[in-house]
Amino acid sequence: MRVFFIGFGQAGGKIVDMFIEQDKRMQTQSFRGIAVNTARTDLMGLKNIELKDRLLIGQTVVKGHGVGTDNVTGARVTADEIDAIINAVDSRGTHDIDAFVIIAGLGGGTGSGGSPVLARHLKRIYREPVYAIGILPAPEEGRLYSYNAARSLSTLVNEADNTFIFDNSAWKNEGESVKDAYNRLNDEIVRRFAVLFRAGEVGKGGVGEMVVDSSEVINTLRGGGISTVGYAISEKISPRTKQSQGIFSGLVRKKERTEEVLTGEDKSAKIIALVRRAMLGRLTLPCDYSTAERGLVLLAGPSEEMDRKGVEKSKSWVEENIAGVEVRGGDYPVQSDYVAAVVVLATVGNAPRITELLEIAKATKEDVLKSKEKRSTMFDDGIEPLFE
Ligand code: GDP
Repeated sequence: MRVFFIGFGQAGGKIVDMFIEQDKRMQTQSFRGIAVNTARTDLMGLKNIELKDRLLIGQTVVKGHGVGTDNVTGARVTADEIDAIINAVDSRGTHDIDAFVIIAGLGGGTGSGGSPVLARHLKRIYREPVYAIGILPAPEEGRLYSYNAARSLSTLVNEADNTFIFDNSAWKNEGESVKDAYNRLNDEIVRRFAVLFRAGEVGKGGVGEMVVDSSEVINTLRGGGISTVGYAISEKISPRTKQSQGIFSGLVRKKERTEEVLTGEDKSAKIIALVRRAMLGRLTLPCDYSTAERGLVLLAGPSEEMDRKGVEKSKSWVEENIAGVEVRGGDYPVQSDYVAAVVVLATVGNAPRITELLEIAKATKEDVLKSKEKRSTMFDDGIEPLFE
């Protein structure tokens, strides 16, 4: 599918920059993207998004220095300058796109406050669906980040057509700081979502066994709410398992026929194992996958490794394990030495991490109110001020 990315804030901008870099490298033209920020230096640090596609907002309020962790200002500045943002989107071209994807760290200020505002306006203006990839802060970043994320997410789920969650705390290693992990985490994000959002694009790899198009992705995400993604990659495919070609192929025909029977079953088994690994491994938002309403199984790899039966069986297996019965799936060939499997678990009903985040946010709000009360009563002891 053709995706228009909007990177909002620091994290969002960096990640969109990586999608664009990958698209340029693979010469696929599936992705286009812009970056929006209140901090000039963050925009200057990007490498692949063209300069004209980097938009600085809120200059009159924060003078290019960013809104810090104040997501209320982030939201206000975005609402005030929504016309400039929509103009930037329009001038990049939207006629051939299948979806918008807003990416942001939800714990900060600009992306956290701006994303829900932008989602609302994009939905009003365009017919294409608007998705978000929201990054959750790690608890160690402090309660304000969790509070921001909870507020932003509670708004975003009602504005975007579906919100994918990536949980920084689930992905950083023990003892590693979140900041040190950024590059690795961003790489993990781009790998998964690039496979997902390239579904249906016909590239140099040929035509798939079981073609998926963008409407299957869109239908999977139709239920709204929050979604999570699993991913697994095969071992490097050895040249021996690739189909023999060229002048020796006639000589080995008989042997090859027996091998074909074996590889047929073998291929299905490999695909099923890969899909299981994707769904049972670490999800972008670790959660109870059995509460997901819909599923999507996607395979990408060399065409000789694709297998219709394997995809069908994998779909059935996912269906047996989630709450709903709608599981879509397919494959698309890419020139690669690996096969990648992506499983989308859409509209998840139970995610302990989100419940925890909302609880932290509630407790933080109560504490803030209490300390405000204390402050306002401290000077309430009858001493007259000098002047009113
Ligand atoms: P903004 O610029 O005000 O929107 O704020 P940020 O984008 O810096 O968002 C802050 C949140 O995003 C925090 O929870 C950070 O840990 C997280 N974050 C910042 N940069 C990155 C990044 O490059 N990758 C990831 N995964 N998270 C990031």
